[in-house]
Amino acid sequence: MPGASQPTPLLLEEVHRRLASLWPDAHPLLHYHSCFELLIAVILSAQTTDEQVNMVTGELFGRFPTAEKLALADIAEVERIIHPVGFFHIKARHIIDTAKALEARFGGDIPPTLEEMLELPGVGRKTANLVASACHEVPGIIVDTHVLRVLCRLGVCPKKDAALAESIVRANLSPEKHTQFSYSVNRHGKFTCTARKPACMQAGAGCPLEDICSKIGVKG
Ligand code: SF4
Repeated sequence: MPGASQPTPLLLEEVHRRLASLWPDAHPLLHYHSCFELLIAVILSAQTTDEQVNMVTGELFGRFPTAEKLALADIAEVERIIHPVGFFHIKARHIIDTAKALEARFGGDIPPTLEEMLELPGVGRKTANLVASACHEVPGIIVDTHVLRVLCRLGVCPKKDAALAESIVRANLSPEKHTQFSYSVNRHGKFTCTARKPACMQAGAGCPLEDICSKIGVKG
C-alpha cells in the first residue's frame, strides 16, 4: 500500500493513476471555438472562475471573433463586455495588445511555440501551457490555483510557487502524462480537495488520495 512518504515519482504516478480514471475529460472548462478564442479566454480567467469567463465570452467573441477584429476594438466597449471578470481595465488592454501582436507577428494565429506565447501581454506559464497543449497537442503542465493547492497538500511541492510545482512535475512524471495529470488534478482540487473544505475534513465525503496524502496545511 503506498504511503504519504513515498518518493515523488512514485507519488505522482499513483496520483495520476487514481485521478485520471476518475476525471478522464482532459480539456478546458472554458467555452471556445478556436485557438484564438481559447487564448483570450484563458487570459481573462486570471483571478476568476471559468464559469464567470464563459458568461462574457459569448458576447465578446460575437463582436470580435478574430485577432484582426479584436486588435481594432474600442477599449471602452471591451471593458464593458468583460467587466464581470474583474481587473477589466488591465485585461482589456492585455487582450487587445495580444490580438495586435498575433496580427503583426503570426498572421492572426496563435504562436507555434510556448516561448513565443510567453512573450504576449498577459500570458504566463499556465496560459501558455494550456493553449499549447490544447492547440498544438504538446504535453502541458498547467499549474492553476487548484493544481498548486493539491500539490502542496500532497507534499509534492514545498511552497505555493507555480513555477516550482511545474518543474517538480516535469522532473518526476513522464511527458505523455502531463496534460491529463493537469486536468485531473484540477478537477480534484475544484470539486474534492477544495480550498475551504477538503473532502478529508468532511465526515463521509471521502478522498481517493487520503492514504497517500500528507495533508500539509490542512487543519482538522
Ligand atoms: S486527503 Fe485531503 S488534503 Fe489530501 S488530497 Fe484528499 S482532500 Fe486534499
